[in-house]
Amino acid sequence: MRVVKKFGGSSLRDTERVRAVAAHIAKAHSEGKGVVVVVSAMGKTTDELMRLAHEVSPQPDRRELDMLLTAGERISMALLAMAVRDLGVPATSLTGSQCGIITNDRPGAARIVEVRPYRVEDALTAGHVVIVAGFQGVSYRREVTTLGRGGSDTTAVALAAAVGAEACEIYSDIDGVYTADPRVIIDAHRLSSLSHDEMLELARAGAKVLAEDAVAWARLNRVALFVRASDGRPGETLVRLDPAEPHTGVVGVACRPDARLWTYPSGLRTGVLARLTEAGVTPLIDTVAPGDSALLLVARDVADGVDSLFGSLCDQIQATLGEAGSLSRGTLVSVVGTSVGRDPHLAARFDEVLGAFDTDAPRMSQGLTRSVIVDPAQADAVATALHDALVHKER
Ligand code: ADP
Ligand code: ASP
Ligand code: MG
Repeated sequence: MRVVKKFGGSSLRDTERVRAVAAHIAKAHSEGKGVVVVVSAMGKTTDELMRLAHEVSPQPDRRELDMLLTAGERISMALLAMAVRDLGVPATSLTGSQCGIITNDRPGAARIVEVRPYRVEDALTAGHVVIVAGFQGVSYRREVTTLGRGGSDTTAVALAAAVGAEACEIYSDIDGVYTADPRVIIDAHRLSSLSHDEMLELARAGAKVLAEDAVAWARLNRVALFVRASDGRPGETLVRLDPAEPHTGVVGVACRPDARLWTYPSGLRTGVLARLTEAGVTPLIDTVAPGDSALLLVARDVADGVDSLFGSLCDQIQATLGEAGSLSRGTLVSVVGTSVGRDPHLAARFDEVLGAFDTDAPRMSQGLTRSVIVDPAQADAVATALHDALVHKER
């Protein structure tokens, strides 16, 4: 049996935690499993590297930034391999490029297009634990790329699919997927399971416990995900293959900072879409509403390492629309659930909850999600009120 285990930055915050992870891996290896481990950079290393880059250059070159950022995961993989070897378990560390993670060439937020895991296979066959640097790949032009913030999750899922792992386990500082970020909403509770569709919408809505691209990859390749705490606390969430028995009602609430919604004459849409294509950004909503007006919703891409790119995209859209567009900006608060888009009672309850806040911002329903843009200062209160009113307590 093969298993892929991913450990995030908080699980590898210091060398003591690196040794604790090594012990966990050695145990899995002793149970006869083929173990592939994907690691993130230690603690806040990626933020620190980003800060250094901006200290030497206000707009760091994207290629060099990718070179720099991939160093963070390299440190983790080598240290962890050393610690595992000291426990008497053979281990080999590999960069994203070495283990055949082939991406497109969009720097900062590259997409995996193919995985050629030959060296991973060889090392597993030799009985080694394989320790892979997450969040990175190599383009067809042999440039080193990064997969966007939180991208080690995507590495883990892509490798799990490529090596036919039975399970992909994501370990972090939290013991599962909750109905909201428990750091913000105290009453949030752990979900024992949810479907790929539900998780994808939650991730897109801003629940950063799993990266959106990772869930999309898992859904496409039918990879089940187990989300667990790395400190060994019991409890987990299964993001399951089987979409049978979806939750009825609302599965969770999530927030995304810095969202912008433009309403504008649909005649200008071609120009707007050209700006998005140039920037490689997928909008959250792009629709033509009745009455010749179009709606565009974008949010700062949590996956994109460099915030200034989002700012310049928004400036370009604004310049394309001039006076013709009307803009709402703030934090996007969303509720997610299979029936959310089609249950008029839920929409009415959502609007009723918002009635208690001083906002006339437009509400949007799309797929499994109903959202509103609110003043960032109100976002936590709005999210809490929506959670109290709409999330089922028994789950
Ligand atoms: P890692 O560094 O291990 O990748 P992350 O920080 O990316 O971990 O993700 C874990 C964090 O996600 C948690 O600490 C939690 O605050 C946050 N989070 C946001 N929304 C949710 C949610 N719905 N369920 C669980 N955690 C969430
Ligand atoms: N180290 C990268 C980040 O901080 C990737 C990851 O943690 O998954 O975003
Ligand atoms: Mg993460």
